[in-house]
Amino acid sequence: MLKALVCGAGGFIGSHMVKRLKDEGFWVRGVDLKFPQFWETIADDFVVGDLRDSHFCKEIIDRRFDEVYQFAADMGGAGFVFTGENDADIMHNSGMINLNVLDACWKRNVKRVFYSSSACIYPEYNQMDPDNPNCAEDSAYPAQPDSEYGWEKLFSERLFLSFQRNKGIEARVARYHNIFGPFGSWNDGREKAPAAICRKVAMAKDGGEIEIWGDGMQTRSFLFVDECLEGTTRLTRSEWSGPVNIGSDEMVTINQLADMAMDIAGKKLTKKHIAGPLGVRGRNSDNNMIEKKLGWRPNRPLIEGLEKTYQWIESQLT
Ligand code: NAD
Repeated sequence: MLKALVCGAGGFIGSHMVKRLKDEGFWVRGVDLKFPQFWETIADDFVVGDLRDSHFCKEIIDRRFDEVYQFAADMGGAGFVFTGENDADIMHNSGMINLNVLDACWKRNVKRVFYSSSACIYPEYNQMDPDNPNCAEDSAYPAQPDSEYGWEKLFSERLFLSFQRNKGIEARVARYHNIFGPFGSWNDGREKAPAAICRKVAMAKDGGEIEIWGDGMQTRSFLFVDECLEGTTRLTRSEWSGPVNIGSDEMVTINQLADMAMDIAGKKLTKKHIAGPLGVRGRNSDNNMIEKKLGWRPNRPLIEGLEKTYQWIESQLT
């Protein structure tokens, strides 16, 4: 029986990955500071503990896992990452986790290790024009991420690839672009735009208003979690390391995202634009590389995933 370790299995993507691996027939160990908040884990073994502790890492990486997925990080949406208030924690905590997990994998002779990097590594100077952002993989350098979160991710990408070069780890690195779906943060200050907007729309009375950070003309793309897992497992089991974008290339403005949520809800609401942390002006996933290397690219429409997410968030409110 194949064995997998999911670090960050109490979080959004990690908890979905546990389910997927179980459905595929793996024996799965999940590790996190906490159990999943919104659903019961079906991991065969779930250990609550702190991956910043190197002794703990060595204890849980006690066998030669066939696949290790490293999702654990101190992270959140714009309200967590772009205010500057959490920079030290983001850099220190996530850096420590990555250093410890990799070292323990190497000492246990684990080979295949996936690392979840982010589109936040891309330089700010290529993302000023909301209609034409450049996020091709080879545009990452000269580096100028717009957040410490992006800098830590860039450091850790290099860390994983160094362990591949020097220590026999088979690292697989993806740069996720705004992953969303049910069973993720939606009201704790760490939520991302799709969940925040679905919550605001679900809570508003028809004819009322919702607040949008900025003018709403900033562009992004959003990838439903199921397609994220598909890309992640395809990359992990391929013979190629990346880094590669895993994201949708259906770019929308935040105003359009809000309109979609209103259509789903069947509500007409006024958008009130207020000051808030924003991030780069435009971002979209460039999917040429993933198509070329893996023969696959995400292709489901945004509205499909947004409907499922809206319904789940609405169900949380009742
Ligand atoms: P999440 O916050 O839901 O999950 C991360 C998990 O890591 C949390 O459950 C948290 O408790 C756990 N964790 C944090 N510190 C820990 C520690 N010291 N020891 C053990 N566990 C710890 O985030 P997510 O959305 O599931 O993202 C997973 C990964 O993907 C992260 O590395 C994130 O940076 C990356 N990523 C996510 C997105 C996205 O849109 N969701 C985009 C780009 C990159």
